[in-house]
Amino acid sequence: MSLIQARSWVRDSRRIVGFSGAGISTESGIPDFRSPNGVWANNRIVQFDEFVRNPADRIEYWRQKCLAWPDMRAAAPNGGHLAFVELHRQGKLTAMVTQNIDGLHQKAGLPAEVVHELHGTTLEAACLRCGDRISSDEACARVEAGELAPECRSCGGLLKPATISFGQPMPADVLRAAEKAASSCDLFVAVGSSLVVYPAAALPVVAKRSGAKLLILNRDPTPLDGVADAVLRGELGELLPELARAGA
Ligand code: NAD
Repeated sequence: MSLIQARSWVRDSRRIVGFSGAGISTESGIPDFRSPNGVWANNRIVQFDEFVRNPADRIEYWRQKCLAWPDMRAAAPNGGHLAFVELHRQGKLTAMVTQNIDGLHQKAGLPAEVVHELHGTTLEAACLRCGDRISSDEACARVEAGELAPECRSCGGLLKPATISFGQPMPADVLRAAEKAASSCDLFVAVGSSLVVYPAAALPVVAKRSGAKLLILNRDPTPLDGVADAVLRGELGELLPELARAGA
């Protein structure tokens, strides 16, 4: 399977859904989870129930979050993010479903309503009781000022970065919108994801069963490679702009 074939699918397609994982942002300096220098190599993962039950785990979670926040905040989109913006500008990209929490698709220029963030956003913190939100700038300033695990100033509930932790339910409306997009596209382009985190990893199969072609772009093999119509290996910052140019 060649890039030339994939480019012809992009050219002929009218309703592309993009699906991104952490791999699209590594070239922006944000580590992924499962690569050798990824997040899991350097941090203890605090599960959702540990965050809720244990004050020491909440403090650890906020410590990790605020340590990473300055780099996350400063990260800029790369050629991979911009390629999806280009496909949207061409009128081909109907939705961008992302497992990422970094907001880089929107920072690159995709309208917010096109982006479905399955795992939430790290740009804000949300109260687990009343849903009130504050910016991560404000939350981390409060942590630095000594509130090691800040609480909601509206209701006193637990404030948590507005990301979906392991064991935390995913927002049903976002998942529904993503499934709807996946089941009505003609080309589903999954990039930079190990495709092992469910239910997100079911979406390529939803698209395929609904008649779309499935194209996977990733550096490493994924469990869905055998289901895909095509798999391209390489760096997304190079592959994605090549694909997007085909749609012009
Ligand atoms: P993952 O870490 O499991 O897999 C990333 C995949 O991307 C790997 O298979 C790797 O081979 C590939 N990859 C990395 N850099 C690449 C590049 N430059 N070009 C091509 N391929 C590249 O990531 P996942 O599948 O997204 O699952 C991890 C979970 O962690 C997600 O649910 C996400 O919410 C979260 N996460 C998000 C971010 C972020 O927002 N940027 C960062 C880390 C983790």
